[in-house]
Amino acid sequence: MAEIEIKNLHKSFGDFVAVKNSNLIIENKEFFVLLGPSGCGKTTTLRMIAGLELPTSGNIYLDKEDVGYLRASQRDIAFVFQLFALYPHMNVRNNLAFPLKMQKLSRSEVDAKVLEAAKLLRIDHLLKSKVSSLAGGDRQRVALGRALVRRPKAFLMDEPLGTLDAEFRELMCLELRKLHDDIDATTVYVTHDQQEAMSMADRIAVMNEGVVLQADSPKVIYNKPKTKFVANFIGSPGMNFIPINEKISPSQSSIKLLDSSLNIPEQKEGTDSNENFLGVRPENLKLVSENGVKGNVFGVEYLGSRKILTIETQLGNIKIRVDSDTQVNINEQIQFDTLNNNQIIFDGSNDKALQSEFMS
Ligand code: ATP
Repeated sequence: MAEIEIKNLHKSFGDFVAVKNSNLIIENKEFFVLLGPSGCGKTTTLRMIAGLELPTSGNIYLDKEDVGYLRASQRDIAFVFQLFALYPHMNVRNNLAFPLKMQKLSRSEVDAKVLEAAKLLRIDHLLKSKVSSLAGGDRQRVALGRALVRRPKAFLMDEPLGTLDAEFRELMCLELRKLHDDIDATTVYVTHDQQEAMSMADRIAVMNEGVVLQADSPKVIYNKPKTKFVANFIGSPGMNFIPINEKISPSQSSIKLLDSSLNIPEQKEGTDSNENFLGVRPENLKLVSENGVKGNVFGVEYLGSRKILTIETQLGNIKIRVDSDTQVNINEQIQFDTLNNNQIIFDGSNDKALQSEFMS
C-alpha cells in the first residue's frame, strides 16, 4: 500500500517560486497525473516526492510517514525517466537484474524477481537477447521492467513517453495503464499532454505557475472545470468562452447574447462584475432554425464521424461540433443555441466558475 500526501509543499529557487504551498493526497493504487504547461512546477513536485530535490517548506508523507527530508534511497519509490535508459550491450536479463544486484539480493532471489517481472511484461522469451537487437516496443518493456523489478511502493514517471512517435505512444499508454492495474502500485505521472492525461489517469491535478488548480477525475476536470485556465487547458478543440456583458445574479437561468436569449443552468451565486464569460464546449451547442444567436460559417473541419464548425459572430469566433452529415457552407448565415444544461459561467473578475445547478 502506498498513499502519498503532500502538505503545504513549497519550493523556491532563489527568489523564484516553482511550487507554491501545494496540497494533494494521492491514494493507494491510484494512477495520478500532474498536468500543466511547461514550467508550471510538475517536475519539481515529482522530484521532491522522489527525494531528488528537498522542499523549501512543507511535508511529504508516504503511508503517513514523513519522508520529505529523507534521501531518495531511503524512500521505497522508483523514478522512471525517459523509458530509453537501458544498457544496450547487456542482455535483457542483466538489464532487469541490475537494480536487484545493487540491492545485494541473492542470485536465486534475483532470478525469481527477474522472471516475475519479465512474465508480467511478456518479455520472458527475450531474457537472453541483447537490448540493442530488440524492436522498440520490447525495448520499452525492458525499461519498464527495470523500474518494476524492485516492486517499489510507488512509481514516479516524468514524461516517460516524451520521445516516442504518436502510434507508439498510444500503445505504450495502454501498456503502462495495464501494468499499473496488474501490479497494484501507486503511480504519479507527469505530462503536459492533456490527451495522455485524460486517457490514463484516475485523477488529474492541473497545475499552473506552481499552484495546483484542481485535482479530480478526467470526467470532472473536462465537464466541471473550476477555473477558466483548467477549462481552456483540457479539450480539443477547447471550450468556447463567450463574453457576457451583464452582471449575473443568483437564480438567473438565462442570459442575453446579441439579440437573443440563451438558457443556462440555474445559477447559485452571482457576480460583482459586468464582464463575465459563458463557458460552453463545442459539443454542447446546436444549430437551430430560429431564435438562436446569429453568425456566419467561417470554417468547416471534417473529422470523419463529426465536423467542427467555426462560426464568426459579433462576440468572436465560436466552435460548434455537429454530425458529419450536417450540410453547411462557408459564409452561410446560421443560428445556434445551447444543446443541454452543461454551461458554466466564469466570473470575469477572477476567472472562477460560479456554482450552479450544473456545477454542484
Ligand atoms: P517542463 O514540462 O518544462 O519540465 P515543469 O512543469 O516540469 O515543466 P519544472 O521543471 O518543475 O516545470 O520547473 C518549474 C520552474 O522552476 C521552471 O521555471 C524552471 O525553470 C524552474 N527551475 C526548476 N529547477 C530549477 C533549478 N534547479 N534552479 C532554478 N530554477 C529551476
